[in-house]
Amino acid sequence: MSTQPTLAFIGAGNMARAIMGGLISNGYPAANIWACDTEQDKMADLQQQGLNTTTDNNAAVAAADIVILAVKPQVLKSVAMDMAASVQQHKPLLISVAAGILCNSLEQWLGGDIPVVRCMPNTPALVKQGASGLYANNRVSDLQRSQTEQVMTATGIALWVENEAQLDAVTAVSGSGPAYYFLMMEAMVAAGEKLGLSREVAQQLTIQTALGAAEMARQSDVEPAELRRRVTSPKGTTEQAILTFIDQGLPEIIANGMQACSDRSAALA
Ligand code: NAD
Repeated sequence: MSTQPTLAFIGAGNMARAIMGGLISNGYPAANIWACDTEQDKMADLQQQGLNTTTDNNAAVAAADIVILAVKPQVLKSVAMDMAASVQQHKPLLISVAAGILCNSLEQWLGGDIPVVRCMPNTPALVKQGASGLYANNRVSDLQRSQTEQVMTATGIALWVENEAQLDAVTAVSGSGPAYYFLMMEAMVAAGEKLGLSREVAQQLTIQTALGAAEMARQSDVEPAELRRRVTSPKGTTEQAILTFIDQGLPEIIANGMQACSDRSAALA
């Protein structure tokens, strides 16, 4: 018999499927995973892979050591309140990936005294390149922390923050971050076209350059600022671009955008 904790995903949409897929490809036993959604048909493929499926959230909670709340934030309150009695009876660890819902609200909806981890994942989880921020309330044990890491690293990296407000900063860096890079790519493709390349060529070069730069930064033991200095020869072509970006305020623009994102995240919570 498997010694892995039994997991119940409440909501089997995009984010839950990304995490379930990562776990299965890491060898996590499918029999230890429950998927719950409103329609049984939606989960036929998951059932085929050997996962347990149900439309009864309470049945899954009763079977689970860890419950992952992966419904949209707007429905989370009613979903949580509907499962409060079984959560109180079985006392699983709750991991919520819902944006902007505080641990305290969740605990309250679930009847109190519950170990809760709040997680801010991002969309590259769908391609196993996710980056998540994690915050645990004070009822979460060391074992539950490491179990959370096992679940959330199935789709990428997962890092703990010390206080819940830091999840607003995580939202500004990695939660919303993919869109910043998409905007940068969008602008580079358009500029490449303006400089005479076909859209197709500009796009392929832009995407591969983003990937290459990220991989170099990941593999390097020096910071991105140093990598940039190393590829910027005095009076060379790169320097011309970098000087223009800095002169026209790109670092300040990025800082202002991220501050606005963090403020919005705090206001929504
Ligand atoms: P989704 O719409 O793909 O999935 C939600 C699923 O919940 C749907 O399949 C829906 O049928 C199901 N559902 C609705 N009511 C239910 C109920 N009462 N019981 C069981 N299931 C129910 O949404 P998603 O993109 O996977 O987002 C899920 C959560 O992840 C959200 O709270 C969101 O804030 C968070 N999140 C998502 C991303 C992302 O990139 N997709 C990033 C960060 C955070």
